[in-house]
Amino acid sequence: MKIVAAKKLLKANDQLATENRAKLDAAGVLGVNLVGSPGCGKTTLLEALFARLRSATGALRPASGALRPAVIEGDIAGSIDAERIAALGVPVVQINTDGACHLDAVMIAAATDDLDYGSIDLLVIENVGNLVCTAGFDLGEHVRIAVLSVTEGDDKIVKYPAIFQGSDAVVITKVDLTPLTNFQADRVLGDVRRLNPEIPVFQVSALKGDGIAELAQWVVDQHARAQDARKS
Ligand code: MG
Ligand code: ZN
Repeated sequence: MKIVAAKKLLKANDQLATENRAKLDAAGVLGVNLVGSPGCGKTTLLEALFARLRSATGALRPASGALRPAVIEGDIAGSIDAERIAALGVPVVQINTDGACHLDAVMIAAATDDLDYGSIDLLVIENVGNLVCTAGFDLGEHVRIAVLSVTEGDDKIVKYPAIFQGSDAVVITKVDLTPLTNFQADRVLGDVRRLNPEIPVFQVSALKGDGIAELAQWVVDQHARAQDARKS
């Protein structure tokens, strides 16, 4: 009985996720589900990424290649990350899950009521910090980015394969701290490629700026690809 109920819930989630994605498609907005453990640097990565997406054009106004972002912040409690995003002038909606350890499509449907899709090109959903059950919930995004910091250790791909296997890109953060750790990037790259041979892996330092331009370009390319898919 319990298994049937869980399956039903997942089916309802998937139906609503499909609706969420259709709304994004209709507005030409790329949806990104950003997942990773607590403290891996998701919000700091967004700060660096948005600065880059902006400086690519030198203006807040949309121009070719520029993406106007908005963010949904998923946290169990508080609004610390949403305040950081709002300080950038980026529209942000905070979801407090009240203990739930992942976001689901129902929460996203409710949160997006408050967003003006006409004035954005990119919606980043920063999921609750969690490498486990976030893997099981489609939110209606187009791409999922899995974040892993060097301070978490290089065994996480083997220990949490589902989240990395089902993602569209992996970002290794805090690479400037590598000399202080025993993190072996080659091991991670090998483990990722065994799970998902085609997946791009970006090695970045959000604080120093390394690798951010490459990640920003990938996001811009994903947006262009989603637009092409919508037209054809
Ligand atoms: Mg955060
Ligand atoms: Zn959960």
